[in-house]
Amino acid sequence: QVRVRFAPSPTGGLHLGGVRTVLFNYLFAKKHNGTFVLRIEDTDQSRYVDGAEKYIVDCLEWCGLTPDESPQVGGPFAPYRQSERKALYREYAEKLVMHGHAYYAFDTPEDLEKKRADVPNFQYGMAHRLDMRNSLSLPQHEVEQLLQADTPHVIRIKVPEDETITFTDMIRGYVSFDTNTVDDKVLLKADGMPTYHLAVVVDDFLMKITHAFRGEEWLPSAPVHMLLWEYLGWKDQMPQWAHLPLILKPDGHGKLSKRDGARLGFPVYAMTWADPKSGEVTEGFREIGFLPQAFLNLLGMLGWNDGTDQELFSLDELVEKFSIDRVSKAGAKFDYEKAKWYNAEWIKKLNDEQLLAAVKPALANKGIEDGADDYLLQVINLVKDRLILINDIYEHAWYFFKQPQEYDLNAVKPKWTDAKTELFHTYITQLQQTENWNAADLETNFKALLTEKGFKIGDAMLPFRVMLVGGKFGPHVFDIAALLGKDEVIARIEKALA
Ligand code: GLU
Repeated sequence: QVRVRFAPSPTGGLHLGGVRTVLFNYLFAKKHNGTFVLRIEDTDQSRYVDGAEKYIVDCLEWCGLTPDESPQVGGPFAPYRQSERKALYREYAEKLVMHGHAYYAFDTPEDLEKKRADVPNFQYGMAHRLDMRNSLSLPQHEVEQLLQADTPHVIRIKVPEDETITFTDMIRGYVSFDTNTVDDKVLLKADGMPTYHLAVVVDDFLMKITHAFRGEEWLPSAPVHMLLWEYLGWKDQMPQWAHLPLILKPDGHGKLSKRDGARLGFPVYAMTWADPKSGEVTEGFREIGFLPQAFLNLLGMLGWNDGTDQELFSLDELVEKFSIDRVSKAGAKFDYEKAKWYNAEWIKKLNDEQLLAAVKPALANKGIEDGADDYLLQVINLVKDRLILINDIYEHAWYFFKQPQEYDLNAVKPKWTDAKTELFHTYITQLQQTENWNAADLETNFKALLTEKGFKIGDAMLPFRVMLVGGKFGPHVFDIAALLGKDEVIARIEKALA
């Protein structure tokens, strides 16, 4: 039974890399008829951010990546929020101490800071570790006394010296670490909370996780986790690891970070994130007008392809085609232009119901809330091939909902004549008598009128368009007229002539 988990720390909004991690977990689980678990890793109170968990849950819902087990839906291994599991971690930390793989450390943060400052050319790794091991030389009875007296302390892992830790990553293959470069990480903090390192191992074990996908930035933590799996005696049950390639900035130079969006002019958060501490609001893919289908599709292609030229995949197709062997080790460059291409393609693929659901909020944001669904649908179908982002709908379709207030006079004025004014008055009369109100008949009739009155098609088409929409843009003018309806078209011609 395949069991995977997405285990975010609720420290902020989800970056696109975070959602890609969710997606790959999800694809792997579904591909193998497995279970997808959402576990909230909230043991670091200092980094806890209000609202982040809800954001994560909403984000998975927006994407349609629904967890089978989570704090919200529960499951056989509940609770799924680590802060609610606090009591169960100490036992494991103490077991490690008992077996000599961890130790009580009584140094205060200030002690450590001071010592670090004293070490010339301080470096993490060995020097750091020795620096932390003062309490290790305390005689046993002294340690007990300190514990009895409730002296603040942490429990640290005792990383062995001069060893090599190896494992086989599903993506990166053989990976090895020299233990001399690994710190004695804290496992249990002074407040009794486990750190991420202890909690992630204990929970992956207790929740029977079989495969663990996470970002490559966690690779340096892997040796600590390997040691814990071994020291806790669970090595046989250790999940298979897959460290996903980094998502790089468009130029390929370095990891795409949460800060890059504002600088480079595109979103990096899945949904808009309002930081409760700084008050800063960062617009997300959803709010800028991306469809979840497109967002998932483009994330799926960041570090994976199916070996063919196919680029458009629905979530179901991704589940069907996904294979971990085709995930690349190399970082994947994020290309915003390409991201928009996915969105434009997905807009064309939506059915009527999906189009309506996507477009209504975007129009409502611009104050357009009335309008019957069938009218709205005809509008959307006329302009949808021009949309790149859902929010472009307003720019391409506002004139279906309100009359133009300004006209592009440069386009018509220089060639305007009284005869043309006359022509359009006659046209109004013709329109009033028109019974078959559809684009084809409107076009035939208008052209016949022009010929009859001795005008060239080109003389009158542009002015007609400008009267209806205000400028030189939009789809076929008779499609616009057909949709606007008789009264509205007449009203707009009258208004423009006035
Ligand atoms: N809690 C870690 C995070 O915030 C999870 C890393 C892992 O999946 O092991 O990303």
